[in-house]
Amino acid sequence: MKLLEDRIREEGVVKEGNVLKVDMFLNHQMDVFLFRQMAKEWKKLFADAGVNKILTIEASGIGIACIAAEEFGCKVVFAKKTQGKNLDGELYTTQITSFTKGRVFDVIVEKKFLGPEDRVLIIDDFLANGCALEGLIRIVRESGAELVGCGIAIEKGFQAGGAKIRSMGVHLESLAIIESMTPDGGIVFRE
Ligand code: 5GP
Repeated sequence: MKLLEDRIREEGVVKEGNVLKVDMFLNHQMDVFLFRQMAKEWKKLFADAGVNKILTIEASGIGIACIAAEEFGCKVVFAKKTQGKNLDGELYTTQITSFTKGRVFDVIVEKKFLGPEDRVLIIDDFLANGCALEGLIRIVRESGAELVGCGIAIEKGFQAGGAKIRSMGVHLESLAIIESMTPDGGIVFRE
């Protein structure tokens, strides 16, 4: 998606350790006008899939998932990264290793928010090694819901996640795929 690639080129900052900072428009300050265009693109890519629920993970997925949910006309559920005290009822739980923090988190969704009646599109900001997506996919499968696909904003194509998720037969659509990036400013996108 050219609009997103342009913003990454103009405002993205490549850090050591294969981390791209996009906090100017995506995961600290949020450009919801850009989010709207991204959501419309996901709506086109998953047009006939009958999506009736969007699943994401806190915190950075929530903004884009909310705008996407408006386009699809459905509710959005976000997986929480630790078990809060005010959560009752039964939970789906899994563990993921955070790419940016290098820590293992428990990830939970209350069972009442996901079930066999749901056709789920997973939305997230980044795809790196695929750990976060795999965790969300495990939760969808455990719930008995149908996984329609995954919509990612930025896939780092030089890391293992994209190939892993696609080899599982999951319909994965990334709006920008980075082929390579270096801290001195060079970012190359996949055609
Ligand atoms: P994965 O589980 O695929 O290794 O990493 C995906 C998660 O890590 C995303 O939810 C995202 O929050 C975070 N992440 C991975 N790579 C980057 C990156 O380059 N920049 C930022 N800002 N977050 C990232």
